[in-house]
Amino acid sequence: MAYDRSNIFARILRGEVPCKRVHEDDYALAFHDINPLAPLHVLVIPKGEYVSIDDFTATASAEAIAGFFRAVGETARRLGVVESGYRVLANTGAHGHQEVPHFHVHLFAGAALGPMLK
Ligand code: AMP
Repeated sequence: MAYDRSNIFARILRGEVPCKRVHEDDYALAFHDINPLAPLHVLVIPKGEYVSIDDFTATASAEAIAGFFRAVGETARRLGVVESGYRVLANTGAHGHQEVPHFHVHLFAGAALGPMLK
């Protein structure tokens, strides 16, 4: 699937749409989800143009992949949820119900989240 530069996360990265930023570095941007499904619900997105985790893991450089996952960990540390715990999830494709075609992981925290799938 070709990357669509008009997707909402591309627009956030370009500064065309505001976001509530938690962390930003050369590799990633982390911001609060507009429709939180947990007391803390943050999205972490790579700065490069990747449609999905499949695209990212198949085509991104080792540096970009390492930088992205370091940013996920840093986001959790900034949120102060390492000790209490958190969940990271990447919806992918139709069965994974991915809605925004720019690779992102959800970071949920702030309460006991219960079993993995309800
Ligand atoms: P997914 O189903 O994994 O593609 O999730 C996309 C997520 O992006 C959803 O949880 C939305 O609430 C969130 N979202 C959509 N637009 C925005 C936005 N402008 N700012 C923050 N989060 C957004």
